[in-house]
Amino acid sequence: MEKETLQQREKRILSYWQTENVFEKSIENRKNRDSFVFYEGPPTANGLPHVGHALGRTVKDVVARYKTMQGFLVERKAGWDTHGLPVELGVEKQLGISGKQEIEKYGIEPFIQKCKESVFTYEKIWRSFTEQLGYWVDMDHPYVTLDNSYIESVWHILSKVHKDRLLYKGHRVSPYCPSCQTSLSSHEVAQGYKDVKDLSATVKFRRVDSNEIFLGWTTTPWTLPANVALAMHPDLTYVKAQLDGEVFIVAKSLVFTVLGENATILSEHQGAEFAQVAYKPPFDYIAVEHGHVVVMAEYVTETSGTGIVHIAPAHGEDDYQTVKEHGLSFINVVDLRGCYTNEITDLAGRFVKDCDVDVIKLLAASNLLFHKEKYEHSYPHCWRCDSPLLYYATDSWFIQMSALKEQLLANNNTVTWYPDHIKEGRFGKFLENVVDWNISRNRYWGTPLNVWVCTDCGHEEAPESIAALSLLAQQPLPDDLHKPYIDDVVCTCPQCHATMRRTPEVIDVWFDSGSMPFAQHHYPFEQEAFQKQFPADVVIEGIDQTRGFFYSLLAVSTLYKGQAPYKNVLSLGHVLDEHGQKMSKSKGNALDPIDLINSYGADALRWALLVDSSPWNPKRFSTKIVQEAKSKLLDTLENTFSFYQLYAGIDQFTFDAAQQGTPILLDKWVLARLHTTIAKVTTHMDDYQFTQGCREIAKLMDDVSNWYVRRSRQRFWASGFSEDKRAAFNTLHTVLSEVCKLLAPFTPFIAEHIYMQLHNESVHLQDYPTADAACINVKLEEEMTTIVKIVELGRSIRNAKNLKVKQPLAELIIASAQNLSNYNRIIQEELNIKQIQWLPSTEAFVETHFKLNFKTAGAAFGKHVNAVKSYVETMATEDKNTLLCEGQLTVQLDEQSLTLEHAHLLTESTVKDGYELAEDGKLQVLLYTHLTDSLIAEGHVRDFIRFVQDQRKQLNYPIEKYIDMQIACSSQQQMILQQFEALLRANILVQDIQFVASLNNAFCYTFAQEELQVSLSLN
Ligand SMILES: [Zn+2]
Ligand SMILES: [Zn+2]
Repeated sequence: MEKETLQQREKRILSYWQTENVFEKSIENRKNRDSFVFYEGPPTANGLPHVGHALGRTVKDVVARYKTMQGFLVERKAGWDTHGLPVELGVEKQLGISGKQEIEKYGIEPFIQKCKESVFTYEKIWRSFTEQLGYWVDMDHPYVTLDNSYIESVWHILSKVHKDRLLYKGHRVSPYCPSCQTSLSSHEVAQGYKDVKDLSATVKFRRVDSNEIFLGWTTTPWTLPANVALAMHPDLTYVKAQLDGEVFIVAKSLVFTVLGENATILSEHQGAEFAQVAYKPPFDYIAVEHGHVVVMAEYVTETSGTGIVHIAPAHGEDDYQTVKEHGLSFINVVDLRGCYTNEITDLAGRFVKDCDVDVIKLLAASNLLFHKEKYEHSYPHCWRCDSPLLYYATDSWFIQMSALKEQLLANNNTVTWYPDHIKEGRFGKFLENVVDWNISRNRYWGTPLNVWVCTDCGHEEAPESIAALSLLAQQPLPDDLHKPYIDDVVCTCPQCHATMRRTPEVIDVWFDSGSMPFAQHHYPFEQEAFQKQFPADVVIEGIDQTRGFFYSLLAVSTLYKGQAPYKNVLSLGHVLDEHGQKMSKSKGNALDPIDLINSYGADALRWALLVDSSPWNPKRFSTKIVQEAKSKLLDTLENTFSFYQLYAGIDQFTFDAAQQGTPILLDKWVLARLHTTIAKVTTHMDDYQFTQGCREIAKLMDDVSNWYVRRSRQRFWASGFSEDKRAAFNTLHTVLSEVCKLLAPFTPFIAEHIYMQLHNESVHLQDYPTADAACINVKLEEEMTTIVKIVELGRSIRNAKNLKVKQPLAELIIASAQNLSNYNRIIQEELNIKQIQWLPSTEAFVETHFKLNFKTAGAAFGKHVNAVKSYVETMATEDKNTLLCEGQLTVQLDEQSLTLEHAHLLTESTVKDGYELAEDGKLQVLLYTHLTDSLIAEGHVRDFIRFVQDQRKQLNYPIEKYIDMQIACSSQQQMILQQFEALLRANILVQDIQFVASLNNAFCYTFAQEELQVSLSLN
C-alpha cells in the first residue's frame, strides 16, 4: 500500500470528523457542564484570509479545544460581518461605477441586491480555509449581521441609547473619507495614520486699514480659499516688526524664527488689541458676509507657526466652533467627493489634497506667500480605502460616549488583558480620551438607523422592534429591513400626527459587530441562549481590533447592559515577514495560509504560529518556521510512533494497563518527565501562555525520541517477549497516548491520527491529561539530567580527539559530588566505554603546577622574590593543597615569614598521560583514550555491524527476519570476526556465519585495512 501523504491524512481526518460529527459530539459530551463562553469576531467574507487570520483562528481553536477537553461546554458560533463600505466599494468596482451619484443613477435597489449577493463571494474559501486549518466553529448556524433578526436586536440597543438621550444629531466637523463619501468615527480614524510629506505655508494677510501684514500659518494650504477669519490669543504678546520695507505682525516669541535675524521690532502688543481688525483675504472667490476679521481664541499657541491661525470653519472642529461663537459666516468650498466647487474657478473639480502646490503658486503670484516648507507628519487615512481623510463639516448622528467615560474605564478594570500592558496602555488611554461615536454613514448598505423624525414638530421615535415600528407605520413593513425598502416606511407622529420619515443614514458596521453578544442570539426577543452566553470568558482577536472589535464590544455592552461583555481579552500581535516588515500583497512578501497548509499541513502551520514566538508581540514569520515546526515536532512524533508501531506489530503487542511488565529506571524517568510536562503545560495554558506550553511539549518529545527511545532500542529489538520488553512497550504506549492528548488542541490532526491507531477512538473526545503526583520524581529527573550532561561531555572529548563512537574506549572517570553508578549502563552504552569510575574529585588524575607571577609577586616580595620562585617550583603537594584550599600559605624563607597568595601564582593543570578532561560547572569527566589492539579490533567489528545493517536494509529484508552471512576474508580478519562473534550476533539477527574462500556478487568492505567480501541472504 502506498504510504498516505500528509495532505491525504489531514483530508481523511477532516472527513472522519464530519461523518462522525466529532465536533458536535465534543460539545454534546459536555452538555451539563459549566459553560466556557467564547465570542467569535465576525470576519468579512468578501476578502481573502491572510496569515494573521490563521494566527487568530489557531489561538481561538486551541483555547476552545483545551477548555472542552478540560470539561467545559464551549459553544462556538461563527459569524459574518456583512454590511458596510468594503462591500459597497467591491460592488462599485464590479459594476465599473464610482461614487454616490453613479450608484443612484444605477439604482439603489439593484445596488443593494448586488451587495447582498457579493457578501458571500469568498464564503466558500473562508469555509474551506477554516476547515482545513482544523478550526472547529459552528459555520452551519452562524450569526449574520444582515439578517432581520440581527438588525432587530441592533435596533433594540439603539432604541435604548435613544431613550437614554445619548443618541443625538449634530452638525460637526468629522473626519471624512472623500472616496467613500462618508464620515468616520474616531476609532476608525485611529486605525489609519500614515507618515506623509506635506507643505505648510506662511501667508500674508494684509490689514484693510493699513499696510501692516498678519502672518498666518497653515499646514493645509488647500483650506485657504475657504478662509473666514484669523485667530489670535488675547493674552499672548505680539510684535510689529519690520523686514525689507514691510511691517509684519507675529507672536513675539516667534519673531526671529519666522522673520530671521534681520527683522527690527517696532512695537509690542497684547493679542486682544487686534480683536475685530479687518484684513484682505488671500482669495476672493467667495464673498463672505460676516468674516475676514481677527478673532480671539484661547486654543492659539506659540509652540509653532506664527501665533496667528487661519480659520476655515468647514475643516476643523476648533475653526467651526470659533466661527459659530463669533457669529461669522460658514462657508464650504469642497464638495462631497473632496473636490473644489465651481466657485473656486482656478481649481474647480480637482481633489483638494492634490492642490496644495497650486494654492501656494497662486499665493506667490499675488505676492501673498511669505514662506513655504515641506514637512513630514502623521496624517489619517481611510482604513478601508486608503484615501487621505479630510476634516469636513457634516450632519451626523453621535452616541455620547464621552458621558460614559468613567463607566467604560470602570468596566475595563474588570477585564484581564493579554498582554496586560494593553489594559492601561493602548486601550486604557483610548478610553481616557474617548469622544462621541459618530455612528451614521451616508451610505446604502448597512443596518438602517432606526430613527424616524417628524417633518413638522421634529419629534424623534426610535422603535425598539419590528412590532413597535409596525404600530407607528402607515403601511405594512417590507420583508427586507434594508434601504431602500425601509425608507418607504412612513410613520405618524404621536405628538402632532404629522408624517415622520426615517433619517436616511445607515450605521457604522462597528456598531453591528459590537452588538454581537446580543444580536447573535436575537436578544432580547429570545432569552435563553443569551443568558448562558454572556459575558464571554474570552475574546481573541488581533491587536488592530483594540479600537475596532474590542472597543465596540465594550462600548455597546456598556451602553446596553452597563457592564463589560468579556472577562479576558487576548490581543494578538501582527504577523510580519521574516525581516520584520508588514506583509502585503503589493510588496509580494505576503504568505498565503492556504498555500502553507497545502505544502506543510495545518498542524505544522498551527504549531509554527505558536511555538516560535509569543503571540502577543509582532511576529516574524516565514515558510522556514513552518518547515521547522514540521521537522522538529511533527516528524519526531511521527517517527517515534512509527518505531512503536513497527515493533508492536512484530511482537503482536496489545496494550494492557494492568500488565506493566518490569519497568526500569528509564521507564520511570520518562513517565516522570511526562507528568512534570503535563503539570507545566496545564499551568501555562490556564494563563494563556501558549508558547511556553508548546515548548514544554516539544522538549518532552525530544527527550522521548532522543533519549528514551534511543536508550530503549535494544529492549524492543530483543528476541522473545520479556517483562522488560513489556515495560518498554507499555511505557511508550502510555507516553504516546498522553502526548496526543497534550497536543490535541495544538496539532489536532496528527494527534487524532496517532491516538486513533492506539485506542480506536477520537482524542478530541478525551479529557485533557492531569498530572499524577505519584509519577513525578524530581530527583530522578535531575539525576538523568546529570547523566545526559556526562554523556555530552564524553562526546565532546570524542569529537575533539576525533574518536568516533563506534570505537570502544577503556575507561571513563567521573568526578561528581553524587555517585550515580546505578546509571552506569546508560553511560557505557552511550559513550561505548568499558569501565566507569566515580570519584569525588579528579585530584589523582590532574596535577596542578604553580609558577610565580612576577607582576604581582615582584611587588609583594621585593628582594626575596628569587627565594620565593625557587620555593614555588619545588613545592610539596601538601603545601599546594593548602594553598589551593585556603587561598594563602605562610612560609619561612630568607629567615622571613612570607605569605604567599593565590594572586602571586600562575596555575597550570596537566592531566595524567592518556586521559582527556572535560568539565561543565562542578561536573568533570576524564576519558582514557589509549587504544589497545583489542579495542581497535572491536571498533572494526562495530563498523562492520553497521555496514551489514545498512546492506540488509537496502535488500529490504524484514527487520525481524534472520539472515545468513557468507564472508570471504583473510585469516587475520576471520580471527577478529570470530573473536567478536557474540557482539555480531547481539546486533544482527544472523543464523549462519560461513567463512568461504571466495564470493561472487558480494559486497566489498574494508575491514581492518584490508578488503573483504560479504554476501547476505534470508535464512
Ligand atoms: Zn475610504
Ligand atoms: Zn410631530
